[in-house]
Amino acid sequence: MKKHNYSAGPCILPQEVFQKSAEAILDFNNSGLSLLEISHRSKDFVAVMDEARDLALELLDLKGKGYQALFLHGGASLEFLMVPYNLMKVDGKAAYLDTGTWASAAIKEAKLFGEVTVVASSKDENYSYIPKEFTVPNDVDYLHCTSNNTIFGTQIKEFPTVSVPMVCDMSSDIFSRVLDFSKFDIIYAGAQKNMGPAGTTLVVIKEEILGKSGRVIPSMLDYEKHIKAESMYNTPAVFPVYASLLTLQWLKKIGGIAAVEKLNQAKANLLYTEIDRNPYFKGAAKVEDRSNMNVVFLLDNEEHTELFDSMWKAAGISGLPGHRSVGGYRASMYNALPIESVQVLVDVMKDFESQV
Ligand SMILES: *Cc1c(COP(=O)(O)O)cnc(C)c1O
Repeated sequence: MKKHNYSAGPCILPQEVFQKSAEAILDFNNSGLSLLEISHRSKDFVAVMDEARDLALELLDLKGKGYQALFLHGGASLEFLMVPYNLMKVDGKAAYLDTGTWASAAIKEAKLFGEVTVVASSKDENYSYIPKEFTVPNDVDYLHCTSNNTIFGTQIKEFPTVSVPMVCDMSSDIFSRVLDFSKFDIIYAGAQKNMGPAGTTLVVIKEEILGKSGRVIPSMLDYEKHIKAESMYNTPAVFPVYASLLTLQWLKKIGGIAAVEKLNQAKANLLYTEIDRNPYFKGAAKVEDRSNMNVVFLLDNEEHTELFDSMWKAAGISGLPGHRSVGGYRASMYNALPIESVQVLVDVMKDFESQV
């Protein structure tokens, strides 16, 4: 039986994406060949890459606005260094907002390239909130932020307006809510949180910001080279790109980001309402900064851990334990998680309340 999958990543994808991906591995487009054994330069695969790039921009409402979409390798983690490599001038500076483990990993890499100003950090309270009062120096080459903090369950609800290029790691909430994406100059996201399987990273770039760093950039790390090669500078991750395309097609079919945002909001309301109502649970993040993607919560009394764990497992739930740095539980509710799965968890929490 299919589990209710709350895994933080790699994570649940629409069932029809699993189905169609499996079919393409056996016989791609009735070609008599597997997707895995054809050339990435073949007409059929080039069409996949072109459509994936185009559809990503369309869903983000960035078509015809000077942006390019790339499907690269190396995960979001490689973008931590590709961003400064491409944007930070020699002897340049960058500003970073430190809102969690991933943000601080990005900061660490940027420091290899130049001076990094951390404009604000919520580390003092174990990243349980989003800092809001801060100023960004206007002589930095860019500001980097993380839209959703996958581990701590916080999410930036309002992005600052700045005069410098804005870069955002949207790995765990891209395509989940309507934003003015044209506010950002680079958006990147490892596919495995809300878009596809592990193995490819979507990078969306406003082309005009490139070519200004004065650095000599190795080819594989150079966004301009990848743009020129239409994301085929080297062999792309054919299967992850194909499965990501299927997920984007599914998203378009159900009504795009605006439609899925409503579903995500309903799921988040359902679970947070129960966390706040049920005396045996408490949320980890500051209420106003709570993530609609990763809901982090704790048992009021850890002595009840064994009982609660046995109950959700018996209900067919998977992937609920929290990250080791926070403990407790983390319910990751990406686009493909049906609200029925959230109802199952809420019912378990109510049952638990009556049994403790
Ligand atoms: C998971 C995650 C990453 C790391 O992604 P990889 O693709 O494993 O490198 C970076 N940032 C955020 C916000 C994440 O959730």
